[in-house]
Amino acid sequence: MKALETISLSYTYPDGTKALENINFAAEKGEKIALLGPNGAGKSTLLHHFNGLLTPTSGKIYVLGREVTKANIDYVRQKVGLVFQNPDDQLFAPTVIQDIAFGPRNMGLPPKEIEERVTWALEVMELKGVESKHPQKLSQGQKKRVAIAGVLAMKPEIIALDEPTANLDPKAVNKILELLLKLNQELGITLIIATHDVDFVPLCADKIYVLSNGKTVLEGPLKEVFSNTETLRSVDLRLPRIAHLFEILKVKDKLPIGNTLPLTIGEARKEVLGLLHVKPEN
Ligand code: ADP
Repeated sequence: MKALETISLSYTYPDGTKALENINFAAEKGEKIALLGPNGAGKSTLLHHFNGLLTPTSGKIYVLGREVTKANIDYVRQKVGLVFQNPDDQLFAPTVIQDIAFGPRNMGLPPKEIEERVTWALEVMELKGVESKHPQKLSQGQKKRVAIAGVLAMKPEIIALDEPTANLDPKAVNKILELLLKLNQELGITLIIATHDVDFVPLCADKIYVLSNGKTVLEGPLKEVFSNTETLRSVDLRLPRIAHLFEILKVKDKLPIGNTLPLTIGEARKEVLGLLHVKPEN
């Protein structure tokens, strides 16, 4: 069954801005999907539809096979956790624990269950030690992890994140990546990650939708989408830097590089060792 699906979704803001046009998006259960697009492409607008924050001007949305309507909005908000780009828009309780407890409390769960879920979410998101702190006193990376813990405590099946690496230093980006992959691999959570960071996409996703001006311009598995270099460049995106390097080595330097360019350091290492006829050690 599909975790999330949109059928011909279009959205126009009240001021007349056409933000989305005819979007057909689908996420299978357990997939990791990137919504890639330059600023203003419509990524946030689409994410806000996934848990009913916005209602389509036309078209439909299905969460786990059920159409999203006003009547089942509580079900949708429990199943689809949305993590905003700026944690300051999401965190407002005086302590980390109270912030994470907010969602489960809203669901009307008994106090013991709320406590168990908060403890579990703190553990999964590696926040032990900061639970009594004021969220505003945390680092940007910790704030982001508290925001994710808050949606995790509602036990969602899908987590949609808006620019999860925005304003993070490299170490915090690596930590968020590691934790997101854990949520997907160990808990089976479907991830939908909106980003304009093309270098991050091959690390966090196996399928991509490329948005530009509110429309889907490319969709498919990583390798397939990143082989459409011209289309990506025409919508103000680029190849991941690693792939760009290998494109130059192939086109300018005529090195015998295959049709699919490496997208990550691991893939690039294999390609280089292959070119040098050296067997990788592991
Ligand atoms: P992205 O997340 O890809 O940067 P957005 O979804 O934020 O893109 O924006 C898509 C389009 O909708 C842009 O043209 C943006 O200016 C417009 N937009 C976003 N929010 C609003 C709003 N509240 N009112 C009117 N237009 C908006």
